Amino acid sequence: MLARPETGGHDREIVLSGLGVSRGIAIGVLYLHDSGTISVPERRVAASLLDAECLRFTEAASMASHQVEQLQDKAGRLGGSAGEELGYLLEAYHQMLRGSRLIRGVERRIRGERINAEAAVQQEINEIVHGFEAMDDAYLSARVADIRDIGRRLLRNLTDTTYRPFTALPGNAVIVAEEMTPADTALLDPRRVAGLATVMGGAEGHTAIMARSLNLPSVLGIADLLAGVRGGETIVVDGGNGLVIINPLPATIGHYRRERAAFLRQRRVLGRLRDVPAVTRDGARIVLQANMELPNEVPSVLESGAEGIGLLRSEFLFMNRDDVPSEDEQYQVLRDVVERMGGRCVTIRTFDAGGDKLAPALGCTIGPNPSLGLRAIRLGLARQDLLEAQLAAILRASAHGPVRILIPMIATVGELRVTREVMNRVIRRLRKAGTAMADPPPPLGAMIEIPGAALSADSIAWHADFFAIGTNDLTQYTLAIDRSDEAVAHLYNPLHPAVLRLIQFSAEAATRARIPVCVCGEVAGDPRFTALLLGLGIRDLSMTTSNVPVVKNRIRSLDLGGAIRCAQRIMEQSDGGHIVRILDGFNAGEE
Ligand code: PEP
Ligand code: MG
Repeated sequence: MLARPETGGHDREIVLSGLGVSRGIAIGVLYLHDSGTISVPERRVAASLLDAECLRFTEAASMASHQVEQLQDKAGRLGGSAGEELGYLLEAYHQMLRGSRLIRGVERRIRGERINAEAAVQQEINEIVHGFEAMDDAYLSARVADIRDIGRRLLRNLTDTTYRPFTALPGNAVIVAEEMTPADTALLDPRRVAGLATVMGGAEGHTAIMARSLNLPSVLGIADLLAGVRGGETIVVDGGNGLVIINPLPATIGHYRRERAAFLRQRRVLGRLRDVPAVTRDGARIVLQANMELPNEVPSVLESGAEGIGLLRSEFLFMNRDDVPSEDEQYQVLRDVVERMGGRCVTIRTFDAGGDKLAPALGCTIGPNPSLGLRAIRLGLARQDLLEAQLAAILRASAHGPVRILIPMIATVGELRVTREVMNRVIRRLRKAGTAMADPPPPLGAMIEIPGAALSADSIAWHADFFAIGTNDLTQYTLAIDRSDEAVAHLYNPLHPAVLRLIQFSAEAATRARIPVCVCGEVAGDPRFTALLLGLGIRDLSMTTSNVPVVKNRIRSLDLGGAIRCAQRIMEQSDGGHIVRILDGFNAGEE
């Protein structure tokens, strides 16, 4: 197999590497996902609003600049002439976004013609393209595609386009894109889509989580994925090893067919564990639950042998739409999930929009730093009408089976107290109206995913009925590493001693307060971490459905006594490297 030829052509097999975020092998047809045409209706803007319209455009342009800088960063890491060529192109894009004729022209049109920014961008792009095409100059006509590309980027940012339906997909399509948002990914139909490969994205971001929940072999963060790529080519995605092969040779395809068969065979073998309990060799019973991103996952959750849903991420209710779902609509969807779970507990988390899960319907804005902004329960408490509607829907669903309510991004005791007051208010309203719900009402739990919350876990525990430790955000915020940014993915490390101490402290605080505690971040579904989590006192793990049998298999091969000793040794270390060696050694059977 060859690395990408410097010409960037695709007449040979090309092997690219990135972050393998969802295991499995896809052999399919490359489908280049582009945001497509965005319709831009023209509207008149009142004179008093022209400054605001220009500001909106400036923000869209600076966001585009930032996106191009990220791409430049990647190109810089590529090296060779491919990287250099990509670098020149991106620098030209960057120039176009800084005080160029395009930018000045759009501003002039907004003010002069009093039209919205989208229409001004479209008109200015059309005029520049038209001028270039008329010049009969090979260099300038080649630039037309670049100008259109910048135009699309500006329009995407202006319209905050998140709904991009995947129509006309070939069967067995492998989606190749610069970036996929979690909302884009939620639209993928695993019956038609075989795999996913993107330039942007980290291993613990919500796009990766969504890909895992759809069981789509996926590799993200591939710097030179798009250079010269063509739709319709054969492509292999090896999600376990983080490899993508474009134009594979017959021998490579043969190799990957065998790998895929072996992977599916192993999955079938593990599937036989469905009805056996998750018990360690020395008899400790562990609860395994599933994380759910989309309501249509219920059959696979049941199939996996999960004992319940430990985390239902309710964001799906708000994705890919411009309006907010009513209390009734949310109730119908949640009731359906609760009923189909047939008496198994469903832990429903109130909306955690914000960060990389922007939901325009909830009025989430990008803000200077989305992960630290008005997201999750902060948004819920700022918009109590939204929170009340969702709590009412969950409480009504609790009449149909066991439910727990989980609050994301709790930072203070006060937030949890106010949330409980809001919930009690909703309960009183529902009771007054004679609406059915569980009696007593469902437990109210806190996600422990902010370092400050973990450090105050003792006091939060007195106000919470249960804890769910979210190691994805806990790692992100403890180490100041953006979980969805592939540029820092190598630094993202849940085994950092600081993260482990916060997990341990939270688990001990829950035990002291005698409330249940579960881990529902991505480490819960990774068998590499199972012994350590058990050794730290965790007895309830919630994970991507397809990992339930994998983790169960690991638990059944483990000795809890040994896991506790291993965790004790690990907690004495200050060096992350030693921790990795001790854990990997233990997993390899050397105690
Ligand atoms: C977490 O942060 O670990 C978590 C489970 O929540 P999410 O991944 O949805 O942010
Ligand atoms: Mg989280």
